[in-house]
Amino acid sequence: MSDRNDSGDYRITTKNRHKRPIVSETPRPQKKREPSAWWSILNELGIQPSKALGQNFLHDRAIVRRIAESAEIAAGALVVEIGPGLGVLTQELAERAGRVIAIELDPRLASYLRERDLSHTEIVESDILQTDLRVLTGGEPYVVVANLPYSVATAAITHLLESSAPPARLVVMVQREVAERIVAAPPSMNLLAVSVQLFGHPRMMFTIGPGAFVPAPTVESAVIRIDVYDQSAIEPAERKVFFQMVKAGFRQKRKQLANALTAAPGLNKENVEPALIASGIDPTRRAQTLSLDDWVRLHGALRGLRADA
Ligand code: SAM
Repeated sequence: MSDRNDSGDYRITTKNRHKRPIVSETPRPQKKREPSAWWSILNELGIQPSKALGQNFLHDRAIVRRIAESAEIAAGALVVEIGPGLGVLTQELAERAGRVIAIELDPRLASYLRERDLSHTEIVESDILQTDLRVLTGGEPYVVVANLPYSVATAAITHLLESSAPPARLVVMVQREVAERIVAAPPSMNLLAVSVQLFGHPRMMFTIGPGAFVPAPTVESAVIRIDVYDQSAIEPAERKVFFQMVKAGFRQKRKQLANALTAAPGLNKENVEPALIASGIDPTRRAQTLSLDDWVRLHGALRGLRADA
């Protein structure tokens, strides 16, 4: 269906080229949602889907509906979508929400969507990683629903969770392998799982094969839902020190915690081992066996020891 060129972009093959003459007016969305309809629109817009921008567009309406249903959008709710692309999910969200703000980095897609004039939908041309969510939403409660670009998926999730105005929940499609890392539990924990689970409870909703997208990606995808806590267990001012400890643990994950954690600033044999014991954690355990609660208790014990020193 598609080839990739040297720059990693996808090329529209002759087979998929639109046969009708290219018209100058903005193409209207078509009733048909099969892959060839999407290729026609992309071709008319002169867009070769970019791998760097994670441009794999959903065409399966049943999946689009399942994503929106997973978000349990209340009638008047504000929804923020990241990467609306050709607008298939945007349209579904606009039908369910009070208002949709969709952030799209690609200017061609942003102007295509503006011309479609979707009801109560605002298209913002911006990079999600540079977007201040408090400014964007004006402090109003919101939920995030998105088929995230693979290239920035984990960065976008942590940017949203660490924001001073985080969403109430996120329902996002990511690479299946990333989804599995986010919902991991002991004894298979990892740094990304701790970074997400500190802020909310993640759940795997469903998985999706490559055939649901144009162009088809080489990997499987999954939709996860993260219900964000009102308050995270670690205060913003403490997070740097907390993550220095967690990162040290995972950087040398074959090492026992009593040794691995001493790589973090301010940690040494004298404080690490007593803190592990005081937290009820066997010093011979490895980082991947600790739950988020274990890390939070350990941080508290180390903080106490540091304060005593
Ligand atoms: N929502 C559409 C769908 O489901 O078919 C498109 C999803 S596609 C996987 C990802 C979209 O994110 C693309 O439209 C891409 O241009 C956009 N995008 C890529 N990087 C972005 C960024 N940093 N900020 C905002 N949008 C971005």
